[in-house]
Amino acid sequence: MTGAPATGQWLDSRDGQRWWFDSGALAFDFAYTGGFDGPPEWEHWHGPKDVERWWRERFDAEVAVDGAAYRSARELRRAIARAAMAASQGLPVAEDDAAVIDRWAAMPDLPPQLGTPVAPTSDRLLAVIGRDAVAALGRPERVRACSADDCGLVYLDTSRAGSRTWCSMRRCGNRHKIRRLRARRAAEHTKEN
Ligand SMILES: [Zn+2]
Repeated sequence: MTGAPATGQWLDSRDGQRWWFDSGALAFDFAYTGGFDGPPEWEHWHGPKDVERWWRERFDAEVAVDGAAYRSARELRRAIARAAMAASQGLPVAEDDAAVIDRWAAMPDLPPQLGTPVAPTSDRLLAVIGRDAVAALGRPERVRACSADDCGLVYLDTSRAGSRTWCSMRRCGNRHKIRRLRARRAAEHTKEN
């Protein structure tokens, strides 16, 4: 494993479209496996095997997730989602959520090693996520919700200028552009007549 895994994932929307959403933070991707309130199709985890798959996909790690580890992952996921929602609304993170995140952030993660690498475990990977969540939520001014009224997806704006407006330019950004174009054409049409 070298460096932090890339962020972003495919989401399924109500209209049956798959689209790429880069939340800007590994911890937010983790939370977007089903930690946020949303339609049932947002739930990607239906059992420990799904979490094992997530670790495999993101960290190239083969770790066993038992019932307790599954509950821990879900609890951390929920806390990160709630904290991200709060931050995106300019609200402080609730104490309970901060406590869950901080507890994992304080645990041993996967330290870089010169010799034999540390074997990943579910707990160590949750600690990696906890630390990433602290890093992301430690920049609350960069935690924002998509500007589309009917969207509200939350992301960490990692753009240099801090000017990210949409969950996805290809999705909400485009819809906005099309609406603006239609409105302008309608206005021009009214002027002409
Ligand atoms: Zn959006």
